[in-house]
Amino acid sequence: MTMRRVLVFVFFVVVGGFSRTASAQMSDLDPRIVKLVASVSEERLGAILKKLESFETRNSLSSTTSTTRGVGAARQWILDEMKGYSPKLQVSFDAYQVAPQGRITRPVEMRNVMAMLPGRSPRRIYVSGHYDTVARPGGQGASNAAGPSGDPDAAAAPPADPNAPLDNLAPGVNDDGSGTALTIELARIFSQSGIDFDATLVFMCHVGEEQGLMGARLHAQKAVAERIPIEAVLNNDIVGNDRGGNGIIDGATIRVYAEGPEDSPSRELARFVQRWGGRYVPSHKVRPMSRPDRFGRGGDHSAYNQLGFTAVGFRESRENFTRQHDVRDTFEGISLPYLAQNARVNAAAAATLALAPPSPGVLSDRNQPMISRAPSGYDANLRWKPAPGAAAYRIFWREAWGPDWQHEVLVGNVTALVLPNVQIDDYVFGIAAVDAAGHESVVTAYVTPPRANVPVRTGQ
Ligand SMILES: [Zn+2]
Repeated sequence: MTMRRVLVFVFFVVVGGFSRTASAQMSDLDPRIVKLVASVSEERLGAILKKLESFETRNSLSSTTSTTRGVGAARQWILDEMKGYSPKLQVSFDAYQVAPQGRITRPVEMRNVMAMLPGRSPRRIYVSGHYDTVARPGGQGASNAAGPSGDPDAAAAPPADPNAPLDNLAPGVNDDGSGTALTIELARIFSQSGIDFDATLVFMCHVGEEQGLMGARLHAQKAVAERIPIEAVLNNDIVGNDRGGNGIIDGATIRVYAEGPEDSPSRELARFVQRWGGRYVPSHKVRPMSRPDRFGRGGDHSAYNQLGFTAVGFRESRENFTRQHDVRDTFEGISLPYLAQNARVNAAAAATLALAPPSPGVLSDRNQPMISRAPSGYDANLRWKPAPGAAAYRIFWREAWGPDWQHEVLVGNVTALVLPNVQIDDYVFGIAAVDAAGHESVVTAYVTPPRANVPVRTGQ
């Protein structure tokens, strides 16, 4: 135990008994979520990864005829595996016929594998990874070493025969067997938990990520067309290795990328993962990143972002590029304890999200943030729209220069609050909905809408 931990421990022992804040935070934890998080199995994650590796390649353009090798065998196994978990889980292929374009050299059927756990309401929370793989000579390490001109996600040279399956060895155990195994394992523990969730949970194994986020784009397009209410996507891509290629080891943190602008819904989702992942899994540190992804690299969360959905991308803290997009991306490069910790953080965040009410709205019917200086002209006057199922609301604020909430106060089942003499121009404010059991939604922040630029007319 470090000195710092000892001091924190002593602090809690001394003041814990009569500190309302400390005890309130303790009781915020739902014992059912604690149990759910504890049910993540390293052994099962390992077995899933070994099975995924056994297909030798899961390239979206690989063979579909074999029952033991290639993308066809892999997607069928993922489907059958998740079907076996619980009769409550609705498992299906989310299939699309895709024409040649970009890195897709021939017409191909792309199938995401999707497991849905229906909740009381249609609003949806996604946990995802991509099960397809790619390998090319030199892998990601060669792309990085090529410097700024090297496109790290560039396609391999086109095959001599574009209609031939791309069947070269591409084990993809970390990229993205790790995110796939995490998603499959969460489908198991959520569907077997016996918890009655408010939101519908979707455990999604995307295909075609390596061809340009195709599976995620196709599903997001469908969600827009069919008005499917996707509230949040927790996407996991390369989350199973704790040893950087430069020798630096970090098995105690995970990066969560979230696109802007400041206080965008995706940034609030990242803060939510940090807050609730951190409470249920205090041994693992969530590191939110205020950017869409790593430099020059992409992931499926961005496909959802581009169509207006709230989505974040989980990435291991220390990557080993020589094992990415490469035949060396094998089981030996995985740390199961690390992958399990990342799965626990996802489980805590997804369960809290799915049990909490939806986020409250803070925009008026005229699309203006409902914040003012009334009644004195120097107060913070906050109003919001009620969230179904909310029993209380938690107000957050922080100085307008800074990433983390600094203050919070729980108010009852009201839709307005005045903080006297708090200058709204100096702080960012946000509201979360809280149910009777303490499950808290993602925060909705009060953001100034951008002003339209009206060009000045010149001349006479
Ligand atoms: Zn990937």
